[in-house]
Amino acid sequence: MGLQFVVEPTATPTSADALAEILAAPGFGKHFTDHMATATWTADDGWHDARIRPYGPLQLDPATHVFHYGQTIFEGFKAYHQPDGTIATFRPAANGERFVRSAARMALPALPVEDFVTAADLLIRQDAAWVPTDPETSLYLRPFMIATEVGLGVRPASEVTFLVIASPAASYFGAVVRPVTIWLSEDYSRAAPGGTGAAKCGGNYAASLVAQQEAIANGCDQVVFLDAVERRWVEELGGMNIFFVLDDGTLVTPELTGSILEGVTRDTVLTIAKELGHEVEERRVDVDEWRKGAETGRITEVFACGTAAVVTSLGSLRWRGGEVTMPAEMPVAQRVRDTLVGIQHGLLPDPHGWLHRVP
Ligand SMILES: *Cc1c(COP(=O)(O)O)cnc(C)c1O
Repeated sequence: MGLQFVVEPTATPTSADALAEILAAPGFGKHFTDHMATATWTADDGWHDARIRPYGPLQLDPATHVFHYGQTIFEGFKAYHQPDGTIATFRPAANGERFVRSAARMALPALPVEDFVTAADLLIRQDAAWVPTDPETSLYLRPFMIATEVGLGVRPASEVTFLVIASPAASYFGAVVRPVTIWLSEDYSRAAPGGTGAAKCGGNYAASLVAQQEAIANGCDQVVFLDAVERRWVEELGGMNIFFVLDDGTLVTPELTGSILEGVTRDTVLTIAKELGHEVEERRVDVDEWRKGAETGRITEVFACGTAAVVTSLGSLRWRGGEVTMPAEMPVAQRVRDTLVGIQHGLLPDPHGWLHRVP
């Protein structure tokens, strides 16, 4: 039997008026629901003390491991209102399985997938009023695990806390795929062979921020990283996987090498693209193939994908001393996006059983 969560409802729920105001313009990651899920793991007792309790600050000793050695992982997936009035999440077990793999890489304990999904289900049920109903909106779930042992000794923590928080989310970029400009990071790597690139950990994001700053300083929206060894093979963006569309309709995405994060959206897009009649290839992509392909027309679209922004078209690639621009039309990216969003919101058939009804 899985973890049993004790539900402790808040004494001060958000008023209906305040909630309506938040849901009218939720933004992304700005407002949090009334509750959170928490559970504790200790080396002696395993997982225990699982609760759905009022959302609020954690009180942590300044010597808590996570502040010093960064032993922390996270996940992200969404809950959507369905046309029949129920709420469903999208492939939550895939996130739960990745959470187990991320934990293993960061020497954190495995949380059983069943408990991961249950924690989110119970939180969603408790805060169901926070799931927005407008088209394209969702409730973003953020499960995470932090090392909460106190002390400065460097070793895997013997005490760990698991939490899930939730935040209503507007459509990230709106329904129309608008192209963004990408900066090619030539000085910084996100991940290296043997490193933590395939784990969803805060450190990967911390390492990517200076490159993101460089992108902004160069008038770009996002940054794309190359492999750390040859600095030649396209890996991914700071938080999204990348796809190329060829002039014969083939979709190409970099193969998983161990330094690329295995996106659930990436995997879903591969399936959807095949079903839309595209050939798909997982292989290495040389950044020069991108530059030349954009010029010759061999590459017709480039897009990035992830849970938060779904599908984002990459309009141009800029580097120190050059830039290539893609055609303005992004029909394949738009079709893939519309199909994915349609399934998530229950507007298209779900032949793979990707939706999980929140009980
Ligand atoms: C989370 C993440 C992605 C996208 O993963 P999804 O499961 O599709 O949301 C891609 N790259 C990195 C580095 C990530 O952290």
